[in-house]
Amino acid sequence: MQAESIHTTITAFKHKLASPLTKQKIQVLQINLGKRCNLACTHCHVEAGPKRIEELSPQVCEQLIALIHQFPQIKIVDLTGGAPEMNYGFKPLVEAAVATEKQVIVRSNLTIYFEDGFGDLPEYFAKHQIRVVASLPCYLADNVDKMRGNGVFDNSIKALQWLNQLGYGKHPDLILDLVYNPQLPTSDKFALTPQQAKLEQDYKAFLQSNFAIVFNNLFTITNIPVGRTKFYLERKKLYAPYLQFLESNFNPSTVENLMCRDQLSIDYLGNVYDCDFNQMMNLPATTGDGEPVTVSKLLRYGSLDLITNVETAAYCYGCTAGSGSSCGGALTPEAG
Ligand code: SF4
Ligand code: SF4
Repeated sequence: MQAESIHTTITAFKHKLASPLTKQKIQVLQINLGKRCNLACTHCHVEAGPKRIEELSPQVCEQLIALIHQFPQIKIVDLTGGAPEMNYGFKPLVEAAVATEKQVIVRSNLTIYFEDGFGDLPEYFAKHQIRVVASLPCYLADNVDKMRGNGVFDNSIKALQWLNQLGYGKHPDLILDLVYNPQLPTSDKFALTPQQAKLEQDYKAFLQSNFAIVFNNLFTITNIPVGRTKFYLERKKLYAPYLQFLESNFNPSTVENLMCRDQLSIDYLGNVYDCDFNQMMNLPATTGDGEPVTVSKLLRYGSLDLITNVETAAYCYGCTAGSGSSCGGALTPEAG
């Protein structure tokens, strides 16, 4: 909300839409378990890192497990963070979701498997057939290390080879997807996120021939101007120009598939948002009468479908520019 009023040259996102962005029946529970992470990437919208301590409490974890058990309409439990594996509640949530036959997604930074106490994760993922969605913002070592820290590329390669040895990317029940984020812009010569299908071919060819790595899908994700990406753009005086660039590439055909339509995004305190970006910008989801939604309220009302309209802000242009962007990659592969 505040982002829309500050930048008067940007059309309010809601005015760009032909009709209000309505919520559909909830099918996806995306849980942000906390801000603890072994990395501190320059583009991180969560502002996660090794010094952060915010994470799920046992009480909220219990409520989330109750939610997973209570609602068969939840098809996907998507675990993110921080490094979700480092935060309280990771394994209990995986096991609750597996027991109720949901698809489980872990958004993994890959390097966590080499930290003390986390070496069992690849085998654990394979045992529970967790879908691994792994960040690899580029297939070139320099670019990855610049964004994520020295040595991250080498460890990511080792982790991907480990996952492949366990059958990931090969066996139909062991899905391994990679995520591409563009480098942060250094001038106002902005570019749209590259075409996903073409970049996936390039990634596959490069990783196969150089490291014998295979994977299923590449998701291209636009840098949404939130968190560290926003601070970076502000420092470079590129925040408003970047939003204008995104707005000028608004593609209405992405709107139907926006991830916020059928998901709930839940923070480590049990508050509910339409997406992880709104979560980081403190823009909570509300009921029709304007009340914030929490996990305990969902349990009390016995319904996941309390939200009528998605809350939007100027950074929503990041999800609707060009081919569109979501946690599952581009929204309209034919565009862009
Ligand atoms: S982008 Fe991911 S891996 Fe990097 S600091 Fe943020 S949560 Fe951690
Ligand atoms: S940032 Fe993207 S996912 Fe979040 S509410 Fe806006 S359009 Fe939807």
